[in-house]
Amino acid sequence: MDKLAMLGGTRAVPKSHKILPWPAVTEEDHQAVQRVMTGGRFTSASAGESEITGLEQEWAQQVGTRHCVAVNNGTAALSLALAALEMEPGSEVIVPALSFIASAVAPLHVMAVPVFADIDPLTYNMDPASVEAAITPRTRAIVVVHLHGLPADMDEINAIAARHDLAVVEDAAQAHGALYRGRNVGSIGTINSFSLNVSKNLATCGEGGLINTDDDVLHARALMGRQFGELIPTRGERSYVAHTLGWNHKPGAIQAAFTRSQLTRFDLDNKNRDANVRALLARLAPLVGLIIPTVPEDRTHAWHILRFRVDPAAFGLPEQYAGPLRGALMRALRAEGVPASPYQLMPLPGQKVFQERLGFGGYPWALPGARTPSYTVEDFPHTLRVIEDSFTIQKAHLHPDAGDLLARYADAFEKVFQHRDALAQHARNAPYKTPWQRADEIAAVEWDTAGL
Ligand SMILES: *Cc1c(COP(=O)(O)O)cnc(C)c1O
Repeated sequence: MDKLAMLGGTRAVPKSHKILPWPAVTEEDHQAVQRVMTGGRFTSASAGESEITGLEQEWAQQVGTRHCVAVNNGTAALSLALAALEMEPGSEVIVPALSFIASAVAPLHVMAVPVFADIDPLTYNMDPASVEAAITPRTRAIVVVHLHGLPADMDEINAIAARHDLAVVEDAAQAHGALYRGRNVGSIGTINSFSLNVSKNLATCGEGGLINTDDDVLHARALMGRQFGELIPTRGERSYVAHTLGWNHKPGAIQAAFTRSQLTRFDLDNKNRDANVRALLARLAPLVGLIIPTVPEDRTHAWHILRFRVDPAAFGLPEQYAGPLRGALMRALRAEGVPASPYQLMPLPGQKVFQERLGFGGYPWALPGARTPSYTVEDFPHTLRVIEDSFTIQKAHLHPDAGDLLARYADAFEKVFQHRDALAQHARNAPYKTPWQRADEIAAVEWDTAGL
């Protein structure tokens, strides 16, 4: 058995195997950006602008919706989608307890109260039964996150929404291109959002977001909300008259042109990424005690993030050592050169903004008739459990040519899993705090991939 790198052995992933940068930037991408620089039309408010409208048409077609509105980031896309629903202040919006914080603060941005639902421990997506249990007479919408790229149980969630007359908003920031029962994510809810952040599967050169809907009224409201509440003339002069409350969420044309160029390779990149990730997972599947991502047969996975759970029983450890074992495995894998990292250190309701009700001076919770739902993390046991006993791989697998690197990662996993006794011992002896207990101490630098 090769000595673990953590104990002074040789790394399974040689330093020469670098993480390929994402997004990949080609000569065509440069030319697309240059086109805008030369043309001089830089935002959606520039008369005759065509990159943003071009991206909107292409993304609407790709996803299969009648409309698409490009905005300046994914969080703005989600809050603008919620704003378009025109919910009364103090309305409740159900969101998953495991996601990026944007999914849960977007309702706050429109004066709605986020109510959390627990996740399914196999798919990591919101559990329809938990969604149904969270419904009250004030519920108006459900924000469904396709976490890590796997579509959520949309038919079940849409059925619940139909029974209670709720809007469904897909937060598809992590799932561009994923299919649920043959339909694209972003086309299944009432009005839906994507992010084009540099970290996402469809990226721009900076920040960007997209809203998709089939609904003409919601589309018109999103367009107005994006630009100060103005009616946007298809030709002629801009009036600068605000007809409703608006924001400035206008996108940049450079970002749109860059993403249009990326979009020409999107299907091919997805195909290659899928092959690379499946080859990695095929090698990891036999490792006893490692739980690889599940993909139900009726959907595809966009593989934005790869999450792995660990089973302490397979290491001869009692249940309560799940967290310490995960910690030991992460340390061992990182020493071998695998960028294992956590994704979310606590259930979203554990974040300060909810614990301390840091909204608009106590609002929306203080609105007449509004309710403060449970923000007690123990009320979301599956989310807690998954955060404690799992780790992720992020970004390193996104580049379509990452196959060789992922094969070295598989070598590292196989090596580490030969050292079960050492890892079990490490798990028993190392001092341990849960991720949510350590949230204040953990510095981002701890998960830096620069040295990997
Ligand atoms: C990234 C992300 C967002 C926010 O997108 P930004 O473009 O970074 O604002 C929202 N929801 C989820 C699930 C995300 O992963």
